[in-house]
Amino acid sequence: MRAHTKPFRFWNNQTPGKDPVPCQIYGPLYYVGSRQFCAYALDTQDGLLLFDTMDKPSERLLARNVQKLGFSIKNVRWIFNTHYHFDHVGGNAMVMDRSHATMFIHKKELKRLDIGLGPGRFSKKHRVRPLRGSEILECGPIRVRVVFTPGQSMGSCCFFTEIDGPQGKKRVLVMGDASGFKSNKREMRLYGYHGTDKDYMKTIRKMKQFVFDLVLPGHAHQISLETRRDGSPWITRKEWLSFLNHRLAEMKSFVAEYPDFNQLIHS
Ligand SMILES: [Zn+2]
Repeated sequence: MRAHTKPFRFWNNQTPGKDPVPCQIYGPLYYVGSRQFCAYALDTQDGLLLFDTMDKPSERLLARNVQKLGFSIKNVRWIFNTHYHFDHVGGNAMVMDRSHATMFIHKKELKRLDIGLGPGRFSKKHRVRPLRGSEILECGPIRVRVVFTPGQSMGSCCFFTEIDGPQGKKRVLVMGDASGFKSNKREMRLYGYHGTDKDYMKTIRKMKQFVFDLVLPGHAHQISLETRRDGSPWITRKEWLSFLNHRLAEMKSFVAEYPDFNQLIHS
């Protein structure tokens, strides 16, 4: 498959611009997302694994990006979704229509998929496997460890895996939006749930213990604007803790501003 020598960097996705060219991140791991929404492909040597699939309008871009790298949507065997929001599961049905892929998402997100995707996007022939949030799954020779990290949504999960590349084996954290909190009323009304704040506090504490070499966010700005200016996904422990502390402070100030916080939210 096509290899790139330039190190992979996230960009500032808050300013307008073109979608990035799909490219290698490290070893068998590739970026196949858009400017706004991240999606990753992992070549397991026994089929392709996708982490999140962007929103529905981006499904053609996803298919094109996978193809540009020399792979095929037909060969996708696993889709891991960090959570049910529209910008993370939008391409799932397209991928499952064209392949024999199974999608994995936390069991608490299953009922909410229609909110993320619009109703009726899945049929009986689609293979959906609920996650408990603490399992290790074998995907060909690759192992994916699932960690339950609710807050952003009630069934958000992070994924850990290990991949081999030119600098040896590296630990990868796919964090989706688990570190994120909806710090405005509109989004909180749409996506919040009773107990979001408590779940989120616990999740941040859990995430502080995470050990990894390479972090993959749900949106580029989580790295480029909030963690490291150069957008490198190879962040230090200090940068990780400072990112999480900043996110936590954001959440605490929102809750302090809205003491009737739970009233804002649909159950
Ligand atoms: Zn998102």
